[in-house]
Amino acid sequence: MSVNVLFSAPPDDWPLYEGPLGRALRATGLRFKLATDMPPGQVDYIVYSPKGPLQDFSAHTRLKAVLSLWAGVERIVANPTLKVPLTRMVDHGLRQGMIEWVAGHVLRHHLDIDAHVLNQDGVWRPCTPPLAEDRPVTILGLGALGRAVAGALAGLGFDVTGWSRTPRRIEGIRTVHGPEGLARALERAEIVVLLLPDTPETENLLNAETLALLPRGAVVINPGRGPLIDDAALLAALDSGHLRHATLDVFRTEPLPPDHPFWAHPRVTVTPHVAAETRPESAARVIAENIRRAEAGEALLHLVDRDRGY
Ligand code: NAP
Repeated sequence: MSVNVLFSAPPDDWPLYEGPLGRALRATGLRFKLATDMPPGQVDYIVYSPKGPLQDFSAHTRLKAVLSLWAGVERIVANPTLKVPLTRMVDHGLRQGMIEWVAGHVLRHHLDIDAHVLNQDGVWRPCTPPLAEDRPVTILGLGALGRAVAGALAGLGFDVTGWSRTPRRIEGIRTVHGPEGLARALERAEIVVLLLPDTPETENLLNAETLALLPRGAVVINPGRGPLIDDAALLAALDSGHLRHATLDVFRTEPLPPDHPFWAHPRVTVTPHVAAETRPESAARVIAENIRRAEAGEALLHLVDRDRGY
């Protein structure tokens, strides 16, 4: 028996994934057919991007699982036509990309690199850079990416606190959880990094009230999802001087519209959802391993809890 795998993503992604997915599936020893189009009633697995064409799964009557190429699943998790297990992407490429992006932006603000880069004017301005151990950084979200980032920042010497929904223990990191833990995590955060999923519980988590808990001069870095922050409250906190800077990779509307106030704000840095891209080689191995597991009757990796929303 052969397994039929439908690749449902934007057409530009197919040339990037066809080779890696084919190689990874061959390495499982399964017989398979991999294509961007096949009769819905013959599809066993769907490799899924939310930017692809497929929104209604009801015609896929023999579907066994949907395997998301994205880590964030907010666009599919509540889809009522999806009746089979949903997995999300957790892999080396996403973890390493996120570590590098967050570390770069944390160091930019920690060392105030802009003060030198933007002032090459012949004036010698001596100053002593702080050490990372004197810089409290809070990571909101201690999942696959939050844990990796927390570990990397602690490795650089930062004083790291992490916040999650349920209690987590991570060597070298101060951890807090739940609503009461949030206040403690924010009160000490000179830099706060958002690595939470977009769920009904996390929407507008950073709002006027919670932003006010941050110490004056704090920096917000959001590579998580746009709806985690109340945009108007963020702009007000920047304008009042309560916040020093916001570095934002994700937005409620993407691409961020050209007339959005974030683009022109002197204390906002916009990056175009590039913090951590899914890399075809490492992602294909995760997808193929999950198909192998499903065919062998083994538990799937990175299964989404659809009630929880992530
Ligand atoms: P994950 O493994 O599912 O981890 C999510 C973390 O958030 C967990 O620690 C979870 O707590 C915590 N959390 C969820 N709801 C919460 C709540 N209501 N209160 C407190 N904590 C809560 O996700 P991940 O793989 O680390 O990815 C995180 C997010 O990064 C993704 O959902 C996606 O939106 C974003 N992302 C962005 C990019 C980019 O390029 N910008 C790339 C990849 C991912 P528990 O530990 O208690 O479950």
